[in-house]
Amino acid sequence: MDCIFCKIIAGTIPSNKIYEDEQILAFHDIQPLAAVHALIIPKKHIATMNEVEEQDWYLIGEIHRVAQLIARDLGIAETGYRLVNNCGVEGGQVVYHIHYHLLGGEQLEPLKKAEH
Ligand code: AMP
Ligand code: ZN
Repeated sequence: MDCIFCKIIAGTIPSNKIYEDEQILAFHDIQPLAAVHALIIPKKHIATMNEVEEQDWYLIGEIHRVAQLIARDLGIAETGYRLVNNCGVEGGQVVYHIHYHLLGGEQLEPLKKAEH
């Protein structure tokens, strides 16, 4: 098993957990890009959005459900937040176990076109 997030799920790499159930784990990002920066992942290893199979789409819904829940618990539901999935090389994905970033707790920069 060569996947860092699978190791976090297995507990062989420590994490600062926020939420856990049978299917989903949420924990604080180790290098936060905002005052609140959580990662929400399925326990099933799925490499990227491209690899989500028909029977696993409910997990994406579960991730959104957990995002709503922990946004409330972390106190950013009312002020607002961003939920982001990076897919593949040009999407900027670094860890190839599908995950959603939950960012908030401060005013985020608007999305803008990359400068070349
Ligand atoms: P991405 O670029 O979308 O693949 O994001 C990967 C994220 O995983 C980055 O924000 C990293 O800071 C985060 N990350 C990597 N290793 C760990 C770890 N051991 N614990 C928590 N977050 C991690
Ligand atoms: Zn994995």
